[in-house]
Amino acid sequence: MSHMEHSQSIVFVQFFSLIALSCALAWTLLAHLLRIAPKASWCFAATNVCTFIGLLLYTQRTEAINYLYWFVADMTILLGFALVRWGCQHLFKQPLTYRFDLILLATTALLMLLVPPSLTYAVYLVIVMSITAATFITLTGIDNFRAVKKHLPLYYATLLNIPFFTIGLLFIIRAMALLFSPDQLANISAADKLNSSLVMWSYIILLLLTNLVLFGNALTRLVFKVARLANKDQLTGLWNRHALLDKLEQVDALWQRNGLAYTLMVLDLDHFKLINDSYGHLAGDKVLKQTAEVLQQTLRKVDFICRYGGEEFLVILPSTNTDEAQIVAEKVQDRINDLSIIWQKNTINMTLSTGYATCKTHLTIEQLLQLADDAMYLAKSKGRNTICSMDSIDESIAASSIEQS
Ligand code: GH3
Ligand code: MG
Ligand code: MG
Repeated sequence: MSHMEHSQSIVFVQFFSLIALSCALAWTLLAHLLRIAPKASWCFAATNVCTFIGLLLYTQRTEAINYLYWFVADMTILLGFALVRWGCQHLFKQPLTYRFDLILLATTALLMLLVPPSLTYAVYLVIVMSITAATFITLTGIDNFRAVKKHLPLYYATLLNIPFFTIGLLFIIRAMALLFSPDQLANISAADKLNSSLVMWSYIILLLLTNLVLFGNALTRLVFKVARLANKDQLTGLWNRHALLDKLEQVDALWQRNGLAYTLMVLDLDHFKLINDSYGHLAGDKVLKQTAEVLQQTLRKVDFICRYGGEEFLVILPSTNTDEAQIVAEKVQDRINDLSIIWQKNTINMTLSTGYATCKTHLTIEQLLQLADDAMYLAKSKGRNTICSMDSIDESIAASSIEQS
């Protein structure tokens, strides 16, 4: 190797190390200080450290047989790829594939150990390494694609994972190229020291691209989480008011299209304040949580259950007419009446006042909400633990005059 090539490769190694260590540091900060997807961020920090160590070991390669510079170096880099996969699985809360991945790593190790680790067998070693690397990176792409497309448009899931598939493909192309023309070794691998600028640049681009994609993935995950938190009630895990309006518009539009009526139901726990006053706020919270659970268990998956106020719940029942809504309301009422909540050896029993209103062509969404709410108040005025429905605004005005008198 000429002097110029040598100094060029030193600059390359320094540059590469700088990037790998900075990225490792950035992921550590994310994991440790900001606690953004900590498990995934730790994995990605470790990936960068593995890549850094692996590359440093590559630079020490000579003609001689050496397990550290060949075998350990390759396995460290491959562990880095496995860590990318595990990190992404943590990130998207997917099942972890440690067993499969460790078997793959062990098989690769065995295959590599079949020959003495040296330049003589470099073609074979690089092919084995490339195939395993391609497998890891492609599987990671598939995992991520599946996870992301559940929440985001298909094109976004594809775009986010194109780099993984491209990198996987490049590794396969390298393995193929070596298989058919082994004399290209020096040009397309780090086997014969790092004297190919193609290899040097592709390592740097690979490292940067991987970190960039991982960052994109972490950001995507964070956006999911924020969106979920913004739409869910913390105490009960039900939808909150913020999520309600979007859903209402959706269901309303669906009704206008397919003509299947929907019903809005407002449920309010009776004398809930008494529970707080007698047993304390924590008891009240427990009652709310259990009520939410009963609602979730009793209602259908397509029904939208929202915590509307303190101890008030709103349910959207898609494709449900007035008669069906009455049946649903009775079922919920029975389940709530059957519920006995134990709090510090006291048994708390609950009743509900329920009001509902079914959609009508001349009513706006706001008017329908108002009707369901009025129906609930009518149930309260009729002595609680009751179900009332409201069909028209006239009815609602009549009801409120009864209430006032
Ligand atoms: P009514 O039968 O007329 O509905 O009587 P009520 O006592 O259920 O209704 P009221 O509106 O007078 O009181 C509701 C109470 O709910 C008051 C408030 O302190 C309590 N509350 C609201 N949100 C929470 C919560 O998150 N946790 C607890 N423990 N209590 C809450
Ligand atoms: Mg109440
Ligand atoms: Mg209330």
